[in-house]
Amino acid sequence: MSYPDERIAAAVLRIDPDAIVANYRTIADRVTSARIAAVVKADAYGLGAERVGHALAGAGCRDFFVAHLCEAITLRGSLSGECRIYVLNGLAPGSEAECAALGIVPVLNSLDHLWRWAAVARVKEQRLAAVLQVDSGMSRLGFSGAELGALHADVEWAAYVEPVLLMTHLACADDLAASANRAQLAAFEKIAASFPGVPRSIANSGGAFLGPDFGGDLVRAGIALYGGAPDCTGPSAMRPVVSLTAHIIQLREVPAGTGVGYGLGFLTDRPTRLATIGVGYADGWSRAFGNRGAVAIGGVLVPVAGRVSMDSMTLDVTDVPENIVVPGAPVELIGPNRTLEQVAAEAGTISYEILTQLGARYAREYGSLER
Ligand SMILES: *Cc1c(COP(=O)(O)O)cnc(C)c1O
Repeated sequence: MSYPDERIAAAVLRIDPDAIVANYRTIADRVTSARIAAVVKADAYGLGAERVGHALAGAGCRDFFVAHLCEAITLRGSLSGECRIYVLNGLAPGSEAECAALGIVPVLNSLDHLWRWAAVARVKEQRLAAVLQVDSGMSRLGFSGAELGALHADVEWAAYVEPVLLMTHLACADDLAASANRAQLAAFEKIAASFPGVPRSIANSGGAFLGPDFGGDLVRAGIALYGGAPDCTGPSAMRPVVSLTAHIIQLREVPAGTGVGYGLGFLTDRPTRLATIGVGYADGWSRAFGNRGAVAIGGVLVPVAGRVSMDSMTLDVTDVPENIVVPGAPVELIGPNRTLEQVAAEAGTISYEILTQLGARYAREYGSLER
């Protein structure tokens, strides 16, 4: 992916690879019994799978999860041969031979996946590694109870498929209090008893913070690596990884009773100073921020005035000291005064969506956030 440089970009997205590595170590310290895998699907939650993969491989990470084979293929070229890449969504029909040829490990979610993987292995006269995912209660992906029965009834597949991991996924891992977590763990352990010797993986980021029982042999960490709070509730225990900074394009002063933006969706109730920045919904700053979101200028919180446009939005900067509100002044959209969680809450969404929607019109810099 190529991105514009700072002079000609909508805003500057700064990504801190050292903070990602620090978060990786924090999770590893938390779950000492398990290996920590990195989930780098969706271009590492929008932060650049190649850069993130490289940083984490340098820190000792050897297991990487993506969602689709296309992502695995892109990543395969940039990770060393010791690194394993797993495809969460499984084995798309027609992709079996390519997946096998590249040594990518599919997560088999159904009997259909399993039989097709076994068929490729038979042709190659080689036992092929796979992850088996079981549905322990989320009803999304993975073998159902009935399918597991069929899998155990006919074990011919075992000559061709080597299960390197038995995994499941928690529906409520971001909620420490949810009883569904223990229920899923119990259901999984019951299933896992008939796969003796196969390493287990239960936890995503949230799961890693649910307690030692959830650690298994491999944690699949995503959002916590990228600075998101693993439990969505309080402030994040993880180090911030991104900052997003735009600049004021234009300032204007308007009297009370002036409409602002599309639909005149904001009406001033006092003499008001307005600043417009060049970030809009096409850059991932959703229309949900209209009249709800905020940014920070010089540490002062500034509300969004009116609707978010495609390429810009307007801010009410009346309460910011005049000397710092000048054309070109930096505007913090994500940073020390605007955490991912705050931003997500204002848009009525979660940190995952904010990160994965970050636009292609931002300049990208990789380096320390403390400049
Ligand atoms: C996305 C995903 C993860 C990572 O989840 P986080 O909450 O970001 O840590 C782990 N496992 C599966 C199956 C996933 O789909």
